[in-house]
Amino acid sequence: MVEARAINKSFGAVRVLTDVDLTVAAGEVVVLIGPSGAGKSTLCRCLNRLENVDSGVVLLDGEELPAEGRALARLRTEVGMVFQQFNLFAHKTVLQNVTLGPTRVKGLSAADAEHRARELLDRVGIADKADHYPAQLSGGQQQRAAIARALAMQPKVMLFDEPTSALDPEMVNEVLDVMVDLAREGMTMVVVTHEMGFARRAADRVVFMADGQIVEVGTPDTFFTAPTTDRARDFLSKVL
Ligand code: ATP
Ligand code: MG
Repeated sequence: MVEARAINKSFGAVRVLTDVDLTVAAGEVVVLIGPSGAGKSTLCRCLNRLENVDSGVVLLDGEELPAEGRALARLRTEVGMVFQQFNLFAHKTVLQNVTLGPTRVKGLSAADAEHRARELLDRVGIADKADHYPAQLSGGQQQRAAIARALAMQPKVMLFDEPTSALDPEMVNEVLDVMVDLAREGMTMVVVTHEMGFARRAADRVVFMADGQIVEVGTPDTFFTAPTTDRARDFLSKVL
């Protein structure tokens, strides 16, 4: 479904990703973990070409992501992205946030887009907030609105970059629960998170990164109970 082959990426003289290979199968949930600066966000951004790679290729459904232009715009609609900061449009209602992409980019009629948006808002548990503005919502509600907005584009893959890191603790689970449901429904997902409970509940594979490289890959069971590298053991001793 999504595949990164031998990706390399530097910012100036700083090597951020070194020969990263990652294949995510349809319906698979991959949780990316690792210390700060490991390159997790950069890898996510390379997966939908928010960053260009220096070398290597990114494939979506077997098709290489083009560097720019219309073809990139089209492929990018197939990759949903949810960030730590919810990035909702502040001057639009929740409903408008969710209908904007489908009407502008996918050419849906206003009525169809609204119908789909209301279903999604219901699914993430904020149907009653459709006519509110983002500032009138809690952080957890805003993040669920952001998830609904991404889903409205009917992506093939969803990328989450620390979606709960900016939330007050009591709101973390309401967002994680939505993500677990999505995983169970078969969505292909790449999730950067420090929520090890989520990794245990929802991940098919845990990918541990450090210093721009994938250091260890395993099922949650094997990774958390029997990590094989010192880097992973050291990391886990700090976060578990
Ligand atoms: P965190 O857990 O703190 O979010 P991360 O694993 O997501 O870390 P990245 O954000 O991918 O790490 O950053 C990897 C490295 O790349 C860091 O050293 C960072 O300073 C550097 N970096 C990231 N983006 C840029 C940029 N736009 N320009 C220059 N350096 C960057
Ligand atoms: Mg990051």
